[in-house]
Amino acid sequence: MTKKTVRDIDVAGKRVLVRVDFNVPLEDGRVADDARIRGAVPTIQYLCERQCRVILMSHLGRPKAGPDDTLRLDPVAMRLAQLLRVPVRKLNELSGPRVEAAVGAMKPGDVLLLENSRFDPREEKNDPSLVDELARLGDIYVNDAFSAAHRAHATTAGLADRLPAVAGFLMEEELVALDGVLAEPKRPLVVVLGGAKVTEKIKVIDRFLDVADQLLIGGAMSFAFFKAEGLPVGSSKLEEEGIPVAAAALKKAAKAPCQLALPSDVVVADAFAEDAATQVVPVEAIPEGWMGLDIGPDTAAAYVAAIGRAGQVFWNGPVGVFEMKAFEAGTLAVARAMADCCGVTVVGGGDSVAAVNQFGLADKMDHVSMGGGASLEYIEGAVLPGVALLADRGEA
Ligand code: ADP
Ligand code: MG
Repeated sequence: MTKKTVRDIDVAGKRVLVRVDFNVPLEDGRVADDARIRGAVPTIQYLCERQCRVILMSHLGRPKAGPDDTLRLDPVAMRLAQLLRVPVRKLNELSGPRVEAAVGAMKPGDVLLLENSRFDPREEKNDPSLVDELARLGDIYVNDAFSAAHRAHATTAGLADRLPAVAGFLMEEELVALDGVLAEPKRPLVVVLGGAKVTEKIKVIDRFLDVADQLLIGGAMSFAFFKAEGLPVGSSKLEEEGIPVAAAALKKAAKAPCQLALPSDVVVADAFAEDAATQVVPVEAIPEGWMGLDIGPDTAAAYVAAIGRAGQVFWNGPVGVFEMKAFEAGTLAVARAMADCCGVTVVGGGDSVAAVNQFGLADKMDHVSMGGGASLEYIEGAVLPGVALLADRGEA
């Protein structure tokens, strides 16, 4: 990794502004899934142990017009305090005189959580006046919110430009895992790409046609490829704009050293329902009125074998409608093959991560990215402002 982390600078006794991603699901005013909060704990603990005053910033949800009581960070502060086993003081503002007074009263090792950064309309505009107000609170800026790093907001980019800025451990873990996939993968690098829309994933496909050894396609996006090849897809979920995109990918793949694999068989159903009638058919023979909702057993076996031989696997996008038991087999086979794989295994993406969690296999992966959209943009080769502005190793 080329970025400096909290380990590379002297943090002892400093006031440290840490951007975390506490954008967690809430239910009845409580944190329903604390994975993101747990993810930030190592960095916070490291700073507390070094007598820092730790000032945390995060967004939560998409508040429309200023403060929204349902999106306050109080439940997050409660859960964080339980995980850290130290008190966490939560403020009702992001900046201003009351915040300055509270920060002024902090003792070494104290943890303070500022209010939802998106309550302030200046956050998403990366407004310099907000950056000024926040910068006054700290000596150092740490970004541990990889999943928000594709946004150029005040707390993700503005502050990194203003204060000495380094990565936290979760940010480091994400970057090391994704750089490992892109820069020096163990060969063969096998990539499984599924999910809904080929247009959403085309840049990822393009990148991996250059980098990977095998690209295994599944999910609804397969049907754009089949249509591009002139095959009937019945009433499968088909993205019209995806057809020329898939055609272009097939053309590129024909000349690329990477092998692009499409499903050979598919589980079709007569309705989008758990109790629909189903059958397995070759992809050339999807009957009219039937929809493909999972890869078939032959395809699953071929993909499992490819994953088994991989030095490294990256997976994004479920290969079927795994949310329904009747159509989870393909996605489960991919997840199990990765769990059993001796190579380095990385999962990224919202629904693929949900699938791995649903199957209870997250612990068996080398890295499960919490990066969501940011991890896909990073794979595409985009410059993420929240990463780019952090100090580089070797820089004074
Ligand atoms: P990720 O969030 O991992 O990037 P996507 O958002 O691209 O993945 O796609 C996930 C969705 O694609 C899931 O909700 C899944 O049900 C759906 N899906 C996968 N295969 C099919 C299919 N054959 N038909 C309809 N939907 C599908
Ligand atoms: Mg998704």
